[in-house]
Amino acid sequence: MAAYDENNIFAKILRGEIPCKKLLETEQALAFHDIAPQAPVHVLVIPKGAYVSSADFFARAGDAEIAGFCRAVAQAAEQLGVVESGYRILANHGPDAHQEVPHFHVHLFAGRDLGRMIKPPEK
Ligand code: 5GP
Repeated sequence: MAAYDENNIFAKILRGEIPCKKLLETEQALAFHDIAPQAPVHVLVIPKGAYVSSADFFARAGDAEIAGFCRAVAQAAEQLGVVESGYRILANHGPDAHQEVPHFHVHLFAGRDLGRMIKPPEK
């Protein structure tokens, strides 16, 4: 796995060097709206620590960081008012998943019927 890049776009957002449309901030996490939403609601939740991807976060983060991050995802869904209607959380890891930003993040999609799971590959 590549080393963490301190200049990735989410690191810059965490340092306040790039603006974001913030939803919530906790001790362990930041949630903000995706710049190119793929659903009526598309929020990203990121840990404040320097983790490249889900594999890195799950392997190296401390229990408090993991718990705090999961609770921030749940809090984001509550604040967005989508717990009853439903939402999908998704994390891309690595090339096959087309992870673009090398700072671990969870996408939270909601606001319409999202269909079932993933689309088959285009031919
Ligand atoms: P990935 O493909 O890495 O799972 O998703 C990266 C996400 O970050 C994409 O949905 C993309 O639209 C979003 N994104 C990239 N740059 C920015 C930015 O500067 N601000 C915000 N809010 N979202 C961004």
